[in-house]
Amino acid sequence: MGHNHDVDAEVDVDVVVVGAGFAGLYRLHKMREIGITARAFEQGGGVGGTWYWNRYPGARCDVESIDYTYSFSEELQREWRWTERYPAQPEILRYLNFVADKFDLRRDIQLETRVESASFDDVTATWTITTDRGEVVRCRFCVMATGCLSAPKRPGLDEAAVFDGPTYHTGLWPHEDVDFTGMRVAIIGTGSSAIQSIPQIAKQAAHLTVFQRTPNFSIPARNGPIDRDRERWSDEHFAEFRSLARQSGFGSSNVFNPQSAFAVTAEEREAEFERRWQTGGIAFLGSYMDLLFNEEANELAAEFVRQKIRETVHDPEVAESLAPRNHPLGSKRLCIDIDYFETYNRPNVTLVDLTKTPIVEFTAQGIRTSAGDHDLDAIVFATGFDAMTGALLSIDIRGRDGLSLRDEWIDGPRTYLGLMVSGFPNLFTITGPGSPSVLSNMVISIEQHVDWLAALFTHMRDNELVCIEATDAAQDAWTAHVNEIANLTLFPCANSWYVGANIPGKPRIFMPYVAGVAVYRQRCDDVAANDYEGFELTRA
Ligand SMILES: Cc1cc2nc3c(=O)[nH]c(=O)nc-3n(C[C@H](O)[C@H](O)[C@H](O)COP(=O)(O)OP(=O)(O)OC[C@H]3O[C@@H](n4cnc5c(N)ncnc54)[C@H](O)[C@@H]3O)c2cc1C
Repeated sequence: MGHNHDVDAEVDVDVVVVGAGFAGLYRLHKMREIGITARAFEQGGGVGGTWYWNRYPGARCDVESIDYTYSFSEELQREWRWTERYPAQPEILRYLNFVADKFDLRRDIQLETRVESASFDDVTATWTITTDRGEVVRCRFCVMATGCLSAPKRPGLDEAAVFDGPTYHTGLWPHEDVDFTGMRVAIIGTGSSAIQSIPQIAKQAAHLTVFQRTPNFSIPARNGPIDRDRERWSDEHFAEFRSLARQSGFGSSNVFNPQSAFAVTAEEREAEFERRWQTGGIAFLGSYMDLLFNEEANELAAEFVRQKIRETVHDPEVAESLAPRNHPLGSKRLCIDIDYFETYNRPNVTLVDLTKTPIVEFTAQGIRTSAGDHDLDAIVFATGFDAMTGALLSIDIRGRDGLSLRDEWIDGPRTYLGLMVSGFPNLFTITGPGSPSVLSNMVISIEQHVDWLAALFTHMRDNELVCIEATDAAQDAWTAHVNEIANLTLFPCANSWYVGANIPGKPRIFMPYVAGVAVYRQRCDDVAANDYEGFELTRA
């Protein structure tokens, strides 16, 4: 590693932040708080990230609104009132705009600007960032707040060019209202976004045809107005409420049952599943502690959900196609819905099971499967994202000696703590692969990373350190540890986007850290307390 840095090299700004979603906004705020200059670039036309782009009908958060908020400001929590148990996209976008205004963040954010490359100069220990507007910005630190689910995946979109009607991607939804009234609409995909939008589109369209490759488990949200008593409690017990979330596995105040599914009788188990099904939401996964570790325990919960699908969907053949059998419950992202399975009872909704009748081609009129033609007026792609690495690798990132991140990660992402990559000094990935990220309430994980980095920057300033880099050894050990922990669970059993299985040719590696947010936080704090063990910090 280089040790002779010319620290007197001029920089335009101390930190460049890429992205202005939950992560980028908090990052800017935190930098100001510790007196470090920062500037953010965001390719979108507004702040909000995920909630700026995903405007599809039914777009909503799966984590409850009071949990899915910043915790860094008690005043902010008291000033902002949510309306529903699960916030819908427009409300979250309003919240993030409110945060940007309240903390006066906009003056450091440049919108409609895509960062195209970032390269490190070892002599000066600086990063040079270039944008699609031709700007060149020199900085000491580069923070990628580019999002885990921000690079939409568009299989078939090129092929769909022959289609005469409009096509949409849920993750790139137009800002104008899309009116499907009277139209024959197709939706491709049955993941989280599809499961949220299918009931909404079905209410409007003349006919909706759902093209399903893999059925997914989904739990009713039981959405409704926010519980004002709970909200009041969280205000009055701010510190306790936030600490509970930080000390949990998932990063929310949900209650997880520490019992094994086999420690109780079959009747008790059914009653617990039923109770959680009626309560709704992600807490269903916490019915028993072994659901994500033990295949037989998982099968009990999976069969409970399949039975619910059979009871809900009137046509037995459709119910069977909708019942997931090729992966354990929760090993792919668990979906949370409002009337999803009920929607298949509508006369204007048809399910096409692509495992039985695959798509042959797109035509000018619609979609041709092996069973025949579907004439359509519009096609919606709900095909998800190139998760966790897509946005990072779409930027040409060069570390020491021109080392390319795309080359370094050719066999899958390798990081130390999900925060840094060996060979890329002073470059940080907020909620990067190898951190809990998408397997947690992401706001909690984002805040934890940003706070940890703020402490690091202060430490570096106080000790006149200019450069930090993860060592190879620490990165190897962490990557092995992430996989070792994942292999104790059922997560790697599924062909999910957690392992990159939704992107043809993407190396199969389990990307999130599954040990939970509390364990991970402790680990990061221990590393810092241990003089930033596993990192090499250098002076000028
Ligand atoms: C439909 C949907 C539902 C979700 N529901 C939940 C949920 O229920 N609970 C939960 O915890 N999480 C959920 N998530 C995950 C969600 O992404 C996070 O909760 C959170 O919003 C991430 O914030 P972020 O700032 O890290 O990333 P993002 O919000 O993705 O923001 C990243 C920003 O970086 C910008 N960017 C990327 N690359 C560049 C570049 N090269 N140049 C300039 N700008 C760039 C992007 O345009 C984007 O605006 C959901 C995600 C989606 C897509």
